[in-house]
Amino acid sequence: MAEHEHVRVAVVGSGFGGLGAAVRLRREGVTDFVVLERADSVGGTWRDNSYPGCACDVPSHLYSFSFAPNPDWPRTFSGQEHIRAYLEHVTDVFRLRPHIRLNSEVKRMTWDSEKLRWDIETASGRLSADLVVSATGPLSDPRIPEIPGLDSFPGKVFHSARWDHDYDLRGKRVAMVGTGASAIQIVPAVQPLARSVTLFQRTPPWVMPRMDREISGAERWLHRQLPFTSQVRRGLLWGIRELQVQAFTKRPNELGAVEQLAKRNMARAIKDPALRAKLTPDYRIGCKRILLSSTYYPALAQPNVDVVASGLSRVEGSKLVAADGTEAEVDAIVFGTGFHVTDMPIADRVVGADGRTLAEAWKGGMEALRGASAAGFPNWLSVIGPNTGLGNSSMILMIESQLNYLADFVRQLDVLGGRAALDARPAAVAAWNHRVQERMKRTVWNTGGCTSWYLDANGRNSTIWPGTTTEFRRATRRVDLAEYEVLRVPAHAEVTTV
Ligand SMILES: Cc1cc2nc3c(=O)[nH]c(=O)nc-3n(C[C@H](O)[C@H](O)[C@H](O)COP(=O)(O)OP(=O)(O)OC[C@H]3O[C@@H](n4cnc5c(N)ncnc54)[C@H](O)[C@@H]3O)c2cc1C
Repeated sequence: MAEHEHVRVAVVGSGFGGLGAAVRLRREGVTDFVVLERADSVGGTWRDNSYPGCACDVPSHLYSFSFAPNPDWPRTFSGQEHIRAYLEHVTDVFRLRPHIRLNSEVKRMTWDSEKLRWDIETASGRLSADLVVSATGPLSDPRIPEIPGLDSFPGKVFHSARWDHDYDLRGKRVAMVGTGASAIQIVPAVQPLARSVTLFQRTPPWVMPRMDREISGAERWLHRQLPFTSQVRRGLLWGIRELQVQAFTKRPNELGAVEQLAKRNMARAIKDPALRAKLTPDYRIGCKRILLSSTYYPALAQPNVDVVASGLSRVEGSKLVAADGTEAEVDAIVFGTGFHVTDMPIADRVVGADGRTLAEAWKGGMEALRGASAAGFPNWLSVIGPNTGLGNSSMILMIESQLNYLADFVRQLDVLGGRAALDARPAAVAAWNHRVQERMKRTVWNTGGCTSWYLDANGRNSTIWPGTTTEFRRATRRVDLAEYEVLRVPAHAEVTTV
């Protein structure tokens, strides 16, 4: 490779994970780093998902960095635009802009075993880095299922995460495909404008009421004047969710009472018994993500909404045909069909020590040590890697745990001195994943009788952490050097840096 820029750390992605990593690196005294972002602004998920009604399912005081509290959150559950603005603010306050390279999609990262560094090709040029922090997001590349005939559809088609704001849905016949977290926010926002909404539902979700309200001026004043009050608020929100997580992971049988609350939520708005039957899930609550909405069921009860209790199976011109044969003529199709989660797209672009890509190494399913590192991919850490997801708490808690791990990783490299790299030992990766999968067996995600996006093509849950956030924090506090092989640069190898 010709001479090029070399940095100590390359962070990929500028969502909560990448920006958090940048702040943490600065705090560890590392200033020689870049943040590579494919888009033209920071924000990740909260930049890309701008669909009408997009909002967070975790209260704002918990869905934010512990090191950057915001006393001025306007609502208990923030909308997309407020979270996006928060991330822009964090970028400014922590002076991250000089490190950020926008329009710099990472095309390939290749481990150089001689020089112990990553060679990185991006849309804006090449560079190399001692350490890569991959924060490309668990829900960042939209997935549209292959539907026969979709190409022939004459109307408008888009995914919820790539909303076309130039297309006016007013007076249109709209098909919504999917009933996940995004779809249930979109339907109530679109129903009042559209001529009709046809919802293609493969599996009904469990939906609980959303306790959203404005945060009063007095509360905000209190949080500004006495910052510990916002910490107390965060602590309470965290504690409630920590208890929920325990039920999901250890006592799924006790969730029946919660199902009764969800059924009452539905019964309040849906009076038609036939529609209620269509919307009632047949699996344990929590097995798929529990959704929060007080407007979804009321929207479904409107005369211009039709629920098709079957997946979309083919498209014939402007006619959509469900698996059960139901047909609907529409002008636009909105896919709320989720993301590439268990087949993380970045994995195809990472080439490890033995020339294999991470995707090849993960053919049988994603596996990492403590959610962060993979054997044969030295000095490569992921943020929100395998088995770090949460059913119903704040991902920011998990991200911050992974940042603790990153900080200690950097410290360990410092202690080793010279040019060194850490490669996860295959036995340590296997032992960690064995423990994770053993614990997974009794969780609601594996025992609840559903198929969810948490499971990979082999039916293995490679996305969710089967414990509390406290347990994960403990497991990621320090890097255990016994779990790594220390690599040293061969004496003959020469490192060229610019
Ligand atoms: C609609 C929606 C609602 C959600 N609601 C919640 C919620 O209520 N609670 C919760 O805990 N979590 C929620 N999540 C999950 C959310 O993804 C995480 O909470 C968190 O925002 C993830 O942050 P991240 O930085 O890891 O990833 P992202 O925010 O996805 O950021 C990844 C970044 O990497 C960039 N990138 C990807 N590939 C490349 C590449 N090759 N080169 C360069 N850049 C690249 C992307 O452009 C993006 O900016 C939600 C997700 C979505 C989509």
